[in-house]
Amino acid sequence: MRQFLLTCLFCLSALSLAANDKVFTVVLDPGHGGKDPGACGKSSYEKNIVLSVAQKVGKKLKDTYGNDIKVVYTRNSDVFIELERRARIANDAHADIFISIHTDAVDKSSVYGASTFTMGMSKESSNLEVAKRENSVMLLEDNFEERYAGFDPSSVESYIIFELMQDINMENSISLAKGIQDQLIGKKRHNRGVRQAPYWVLHRTSMPAVLVELGFISNPEEERYMKSSKGQEELSDCIYKAICRYKKSSDNKSSAVRNVQASVSETPTADKTPTHGISFQVQILVSKSILKDNDKQFKGLKDISYYTDNNLYKYTSGSFASEQEAIAHRKKIKGLFSDSFVVAIKDGKRISMEQARKEVLK
Ligand SMILES: [Zn+2]
Repeated sequence: MRQFLLTCLFCLSALSLAANDKVFTVVLDPGHGGKDPGACGKSSYEKNIVLSVAQKVGKKLKDTYGNDIKVVYTRNSDVFIELERRARIANDAHADIFISIHTDAVDKSSVYGASTFTMGMSKESSNLEVAKRENSVMLLEDNFEERYAGFDPSSVESYIIFELMQDINMENSISLAKGIQDQLIGKKRHNRGVRQAPYWVLHRTSMPAVLVELGFISNPEEERYMKSSKGQEELSDCIYKAICRYKKSSDNKSSAVRNVQASVSETPTADKTPTHGISFQVQILVSKSILKDNDKQFKGLKDISYYTDNNLYKYTSGSFASEQEAIAHRKKIKGLFSDSFVVAIKDGKRISMEQARKEVLK
């Protein structure tokens, strides 16, 4: 177990290696392969459907973005790849997103529909069952015990560890998963929703990561659809479009952050010790615990301080002698913190704006 936790931390630290100005990198992970066929339908294997869909997604991305995107496949042919290696490929590529592609299966042939999963400990036992089945592929690996440090994919206890993890990429993973699911619904796929499940391969990747279950290979109609070139064309188009949207919003976000950082750094240094002893600051967020200066939640803003109130840490940006300067600062960072507002601080405590205005005028 301990060994397991240490490697988790290692994964997270890989995040900091991701360079900001690199080409947007997508890792496409067609599930299973080689000796592992995945789920079996009446006339097809999961491994073949998902490989074909992944390749179509990759081709569409390259056709659209050319050298402005890097597409990495965990497998590009019918070969067996260990789960751990799939995650390593994504981490080594410093990928921006990781998309694992699968088809679902259950005993009942009437069940159908598409779902997209993010990493998490699910309270729904059915999600855990799906994850257990996808994870059980590790039992096919030769040195499984050594590689997965005693993790038993069939035991519920083994999954408790996932609850301890704080997935720092959760927000982006959910947004990507929602994007994919929206596209699938648009193509009239039955919506089984965005869900959480403890997938090993998602847990080990250090970037926003999702797992798509395109449909049920155990449902004759869905099997036919997923096998057909029309079905694969549509399904790959859904994933492709969701990636395009995600990429666009992430490009916008990083340019917004750069713009704000540039404009904030141009702000003349505020007088930290005005004669009235009151500092006007822009409150940006509240936390139950103390945060590090470079915490991601600050979105790259410098000049952060905090005051405590009701056992909460209330974080602010900037420090100004006048309310007007703080309002101007708030306008600049509004794009990053839409709920931010100006507060007045005296002797480390927040005072009302009314009182602050009076004291400033004295
Ligand atoms: Zn699968």
